[in-house]
Amino acid sequence: MSADSRPLGALPASLAELHPDPWTEPFWRATAEHRLVCARCTSCGTFRMPPAPFCHVCRAQEVAWPELPGTGVVYTFTVVRHAVATVALGHLPYVVAVVELDGAPGARLIANILGADPSVVEIGRRVHVRWDDVGPRTTIPRFELVDS
Ligand SMILES: [Zn+2]
Repeated sequence: MSADSRPLGALPASLAELHPDPWTEPFWRATAEHRLVCARCTSCGTFRMPPAPFCHVCRAQEVAWPELPGTGVVYTFTVVRHAVATVALGHLPYVVAVVELDGAPGARLIANILGADPSVVEIGRRVHVRWDDVGPRTTIPRFELVDS
């Protein structure tokens, strides 16, 4: 844990203010229940992450929200060594990754990688979700390396 009791690698809770819209609200409602879901087009089956009003393949609007296992693979990542805001100064360095989600082919989620020395994060490493409760109804899905 870092000095302010945040998980190692997690951004300050004050940077996690959500602004859900009709397309993202089901995602955030699920994360508050510690469930990882992904919008899936009910017409052609394409997963949409981030959720969007129209399917980028068939332009349909209707979606279902299947629950995912909460695991995946680091598709790519960067190590942030310069604070984007002064409140983040005590949290450097941290890893921001694009995680390819198991159970949702083609869907990728941008998230922090927690609890790891940034030098051990690699493309292709297995990760699993770790729920970061930053408020009474706000939970951010972050990930940690499997077998780290
Ligand atoms: Zn579609």
